[in-house]
Amino acid sequence: MTIPALPSELGAFDAKALADDPGSLVAIRDDGTILWFNAGWRRFAGANGGDDVPDRFGVGASYFEAISGTLRGFYEEVVLDCADRQEPFEQQYECSSPTSRRTFRMRVLPAGDHVLLVSHSLVVEEPVEAAASEPLDDAYRAPTGLVTMCSNCRRVRRADQAQWDWVPAWVSNQPARVSHGICALCMGYYYGAYRASRSRK
Ligand SMILES: [Zn+2]
Repeated sequence: MTIPALPSELGAFDAKALADDPGSLVAIRDDGTILWFNAGWRRFAGANGGDDVPDRFGVGASYFEAISGTLRGFYEEVVLDCADRQEPFEQQYECSSPTSRRTFRMRVLPAGDHVLLVSHSLVVEEPVEAAASEPLDDAYRAPTGLVTMCSNCRRVRRADQAQWDWVPAWVSNQPARVSHGICALCMGYYYGAYRASRSRK
């Protein structure tokens, strides 16, 4: 997959700086169609979704298809809202690996008529300190047969629904019959704060 030329809507940006940015940058239309991406996006998409992801998420594909579960609706709403208001949106989020706790910052920048630049950059990476839980079906598989993983922080819901735990073995290798939901903390943080900020305007 070669890196495409920067679309004319992003003419105000330094093309070389965007291409060389170590973070993941994608230009999309407000319907989610990918117009441009840098090498960082290719790495990011590959690292987070498997080897075929960079090919599935090139120019012309839908950016939203890369986002699983409940968060997809949230991002669709954010992107449309930014395009409507011509205002940027920023948020930090956690996306940890089995061995390191990583915090990223997402920025959505309106960059022309119905075009937005979406950036994900690493803010901090440190060794995982959260208590790790064992990948036990008895503890996590619900009566429906499904294991539910938070599509944001990747914690796993206990079978009795009492709590969400960090199960690094299942971050490395997803369990069979996994479904994606959103944990209470991510729900409050992403949806609660965002909706409250919108309703004040
Ligand atoms: Zn979560």
